[in-house]
Amino acid sequence: MSKVRTRFAPSPTGFMHIGNLRTCLYAYLFAKKNGGEFVLRIEDTDQERYVEGAVDVIYSTLKKAGIRHDEGPDKDGGYGPYIQSERKSLYLDYAKELVEKGGAYYCFCDKQRLDSLKDEKGIAKYDKHCLALSKEEVNKRIADGEPYVIRQNIPAEGVSEYEDMVFGHISVPNEDMEDGVLIKSDGMPTYNFANVVDDHLMAINYVIRGVEYLSSTPKYNLMYDAFGWQRPHYMHLSPIMKDAQRKLSKRYGDANFEDFLEKGYLPKAIVNYIALLGWSPKGTEEKLSMDELVEQFDVDGISKSPSIFDEAKMRWLNGEYIKQMTPEEFVEVAKPYFEKSKVAGKYDYLALAKLLIPRVEVLGEIPEKVDFLEEFCEYDTAMFEHKKMKITKDIALNNLKAVKEELKDFEDWTDEALKQILSQLAEKLACKSGQIFLPLRLALTGVASTPGGATEMAELLGKEESMKRLDFSIELLEKNI
Ligand code: GLU
Repeated sequence: MSKVRTRFAPSPTGFMHIGNLRTCLYAYLFAKKNGGEFVLRIEDTDQERYVEGAVDVIYSTLKKAGIRHDEGPDKDGGYGPYIQSERKSLYLDYAKELVEKGGAYYCFCDKQRLDSLKDEKGIAKYDKHCLALSKEEVNKRIADGEPYVIRQNIPAEGVSEYEDMVFGHISVPNEDMEDGVLIKSDGMPTYNFANVVDDHLMAINYVIRGVEYLSSTPKYNLMYDAFGWQRPHYMHLSPIMKDAQRKLSKRYGDANFEDFLEKGYLPKAIVNYIALLGWSPKGTEEKLSMDELVEQFDVDGISKSPSIFDEAKMRWLNGEYIKQMTPEEFVEVAKPYFEKSKVAGKYDYLALAKLLIPRVEVLGEIPEKVDFLEEFCEYDTAMFEHKKMKITKDIALNNLKAVKEELKDFEDWTDEALKQILSQLAEKLACKSGQIFLPLRLALTGVASTPGGATEMAELLGKEESMKRLDFSIELLEKNI
């Protein structure tokens, strides 16, 4: 059996759609699972859509995602060039060969004639008009410089069939397919032609791509057959949806890999999550490393139905990855978020990291969790009221005053020592420790959500700042009771 070869063939658009990244991942996993090779090919024949720097986005995405291609524009494996625009001359030769073999023909119809074929809905099906031209006439018109395209010659009758590895038996009546353009009048191939020639010449034997190509694949197979080439195996993948009706979209900031990186998701967690979108592992463990994904990947687990992107679940998974980080690792990835926050350059990031690691699901939450350290101003004292813990503003005020008294001359300003002395204070006052710690945490921060308990916050702020804030909060409460 020949070696498994899969490919990822993105068009350089400047960003990486989550659905495309998943296609890429599955093609990679399938190749690696089977000891095969994974090829990167850049499909840039649509020059109008050319975006400067877009190819670099593709490389950097794959790198961040931990997907290593064995061959590509930057890694020649003997099947290059791997960029379609550098293969231009080759397509015309193959198209001519296909004409010789009866699988295609020259077409000289102009826009006016093509427009005349349109029905009431504006839809035209080409009527094979130019198929009847003699070889001599074709040669003469080409020699005269008349513009032409090359069209595929699809049999008028019969059905075209194949087995898709995900969708099973696919059968399309030939009359439902059009003699589509393979070579445009500017000499460039269309996707419909280039994908076939490239996949064949690059010895791709497993084509893994989006489901939008499922029903055009019979056309491609007709070309393979006409050339006398062996057809590849196909695996088409269902789309990823936001919900039953809506696709992921750039507008909602949930379409592209980059959107999620910016929100503070870790590439590893994104890759892990999207691997599970449309594929189920046999076991119950969902947190899977790339090596584990490779080991467990299996076509039987791929679903035919569209998958729903559940950001809450990806957040949870991201949080699980964060929990496993050392403070040093955390600071490395969290640095840009610290720098964006109000504490930038003012606090020991490692100390903050220890507090944040168990409490942050995505790195984007960091600024809101640490800004209170630098920003402390009037806040709503209703926050002190807590029914379940039986805290009223009066109780909060009394307890804060007692805390102030207790800490005024206390110097061992560490989390542990503060915790101890304040627990003793709760005993002395015959109240629940929560009735001390919760008001204190709010009094020191002025916000409901903080990356740690009262004494951890006190240690971070230091004695001077803590006492200042305590005074401020006591005054504020007195005014607002
Ligand atoms: N360039 C095509 C796309 O981005 C690739 C489709 C394929 O994998 O064959 O949709």
